[in-house]
Amino acid sequence: MIDTHTHTTYSPDGTADMVTMLRSAQRLGLTGICFTEHAEWYPGDEAYGYLDLDAYFAELDATRACCANGTRILAGIELGNPHDFPEEAQALLARYRFDLVIGSVHWLDDIAGWTQPFFEHGLAAAYQRYFEEVARMVDVADFDVLGHLDLVRRDSWDLFREALPLDRYGDLIDTILKRLIVSGRGIEINTSGLRKGLSEPVPGYQVLRRYHELGGEILVLGSDGHRPEHIGYGFDVARDLARAAGFERVAVFSRRSVVGWIDL
Ligand SMILES: [Zn+2]
Ligand SMILES: [Zn+2]
Repeated sequence: MIDTHTHTTYSPDGTADMVTMLRSAQRLGLTGICFTEHAEWYPGDEAYGYLDLDAYFAELDATRACCANGTRILAGIELGNPHDFPEEAQALLARYRFDLVIGSVHWLDDIAGWTQPFFEHGLAAAYQRYFEEVARMVDVADFDVLGHLDLVRRDSWDLFREALPLDRYGDLIDTILKRLIVSGRGIEINTSGLRKGLSEPVPGYQVLRRYHELGGEILVLGSDGHRPEHIGYGFDVARDLARAAGFERVAVFSRRSVVGWIDL
């Protein structure tokens, strides 16, 4: 497996450098790791203005040269709300060559999705708002894989120890999945949910099953790890879940295209 969603010290919340994260992946026997640092444009975000991509690529090259030993080291990025900052996002993607671009909704207008104010009108309203925002992003933004499709479940779990069932958002989730499928983009199973005590990764079985039913194929596994011990976290659970949902393989990305598959 490849861990396609990780953060190093090029993200403000990352604790370890690339070599340390890579070694953690190698110890687990993963075949690859993708460093997907935060690019954020909301001034309130701690990642705002933080990422130095020239330094990132220099360290990536050095890490490949010194320590890869056959492990695939992929250049990635996690774009936060690229649909709200289309010019900035486009300029960044034009300037640097990534293997994998993750598109994520972290902010809802000027409110951070992981904070209490986002939920002030209740969980159901927040979930509706969140999925609407994801649908908007999927419509217009340039990315390869949708990050943590139902992150709002993880955040409501974090804050209130409650995660709502997704049935009433089924139409919106269908819209999101269909738009991804027709445009040749994919989703990730983000195992940070498991790490934070949620019973499932984000997304879980129900969404994965639906994605498969609708014809979705492009799937990757990401820990969203910010520490070496997070790498590959819960991948056995994610793999079983993906299989149960009908998937037999995950995608391998290079230069923003699917170049291969790994059997689950
Ligand atoms: Zn994220
Ligand atoms: Zn992330």
